[in-house]
Amino acid sequence: MLSQGIIEKELTHIIGKDNIQTSKEDLICYSYDATNQKFLPDAVVFPKSASEISLILKLANQEGFPVVPRGAGSGFSGGSLPVKGGVIVSLERMNTILKIDADNLIAIVEPGVVTGDFQEEVEKLGLFYPPDPSSLRFCTMGGNVAECAGGPRAVKYGVTKDYVLGLEVVLPTGETINTGAQTIKSVVGYDLTKLMVGSEGTLGIVTKIILKLLPLPEATKTMLAVFQDMKDAARAATNIISSKIIPSTLEFMDRGSISCVDDYVSMGLPADIEAVLLIEVDGDRGLIENQAEGIKKICLDNRAREVRIAGDKKEVKQLWQIRRAISPSLAKLKPNKINEDIVVPRSKIPDAIIGVREIAKKYNLTNANFGHAGDGNIHVNIMIDKSDRAEFLRAEKAVKEIFKLVLGLGGTISGEHGIGISKMPYIGMELSHTAIDVMKKIKQVLDPKGILNPGKIFPKL
Ligand SMILES: Cc1cc2nc3c(=O)[nH]c(=O)nc-3n(C[C@H](O)[C@H](O)[C@H](O)COP(=O)(O)OP(=O)(O)OC[C@H]3O[C@@H](n4cnc5c(N)ncnc54)[C@H](O)[C@@H]3O)c2cc1C
Repeated sequence: MLSQGIIEKELTHIIGKDNIQTSKEDLICYSYDATNQKFLPDAVVFPKSASEISLILKLANQEGFPVVPRGAGSGFSGGSLPVKGGVIVSLERMNTILKIDADNLIAIVEPGVVTGDFQEEVEKLGLFYPPDPSSLRFCTMGGNVAECAGGPRAVKYGVTKDYVLGLEVVLPTGETINTGAQTIKSVVGYDLTKLMVGSEGTLGIVTKIILKLLPLPEATKTMLAVFQDMKDAARAATNIISSKIIPSTLEFMDRGSISCVDDYVSMGLPADIEAVLLIEVDGDRGLIENQAEGIKKICLDNRAREVRIAGDKKEVKQLWQIRRAISPSLAKLKPNKINEDIVVPRSKIPDAIIGVREIAKKYNLTNANFGHAGDGNIHVNIMIDKSDRAEFLRAEKAVKEIFKLVLGLGGTISGEHGIGISKMPYIGMELSHTAIDVMKKIKQVLDPKGILNPGKIFPKL
């Protein structure tokens, strides 16, 4: 535990007394993330510059206390939790959009900028930043970089790593480096930008992000296809992509998920459906009309019971309402969820969902699945009541079997949420001992005293 002396004298001296919190009520606000697990830090600091972060990290190395970077705390794998106590470095006050360069299609932001706010700002200039995690109203750009966040638009536009051109990073030992460049191309030395993106706040604290932008697509078209057989929906999703139409989103929801959304029947959807695809295309007006017709035909050829194309903004909102309502409405099934973000090759989605359902049945568990069919990333939800210990233990066994199934299908155990503490016990199922060893060595070189975000990713470090 961090001594009062260090907090009151050294840390407060670096950061100023208005930028440090130590009362229990304040610490509780920074003790959890979306996993709903709680670990109390010793202090929370709100730096405003890389140089303050550098001094905090140098002090941490000298005194041997843990430092944990935090954006909005919306992570699903426990990455921002101070599992070994120490100081939370909240980046929320470093939230300035430093530059939007419309001539060169780049932007530079501080890490605490909220993703949705950044998107709105660039869109005002006719520009586009595609990565769209469903948490975009509150998650931060720094958190997105640290987790390499994706979202529904990944199927066409890729994920955060595809837009990060360079970074300013304070290393665990307190030195500051710049990686990449403010240009689309740069191959000078090892690609430290890619190393940092997705490193889950364990290799450095990101203090500036250089981003690539695109021109804003002229228009979008949204449609909903309803299926009575889940395999037909999965086949339609595969056929859409293989017909060389790449939608900007291609979302899948199974019966278990849809049935939680109160209004779906009042929205005119049949009560007995097995799966729904929510599909959006974007681009030139003429092109998307043709693409929407092409997609409708593919869905009907795959026995869609109905394909509804939104005629105006109100209908678009209504269709997305079903998708957005799913995650919160799952609480109707059970109070807690174990949320896995597995990815399989698109064509294996039916095998994955059938397999997951069989595993859930074997362990007598409630299960609902939805996600990004376009890139094979399915959110598998095992719904439990944590107070039921026996059910929790059955769920743990089921998760391990689900990961085995996914890896057997040529997939990966996490497409978006990272390892953190939630998937730490399973990392060895996907990565070889040698690969894990290389990663641990990288961590040791950059963070010899193990002070930055300890207790994450690797079971023993
Ligand atoms: C309702 C909901 C929907 C979601 N939907 C999606 C989705 O569609 N796609 C998706 O990918 N994720 C999704 N997420 C997960 C989460 O929002 C993302 O992982 C997001 O990137 C986390 O951002 P954050 O600012 O909340 O980071 P935090 O949760 O605070 O931190 C996440 C990790 O990043 C590190 N970190 C934060 N800032 C920095 C920094 N400046 N430098 C270094 N490390 C840092 C932390 O230490 C931690 O390891 C969702 C979460 C919720 C609750």
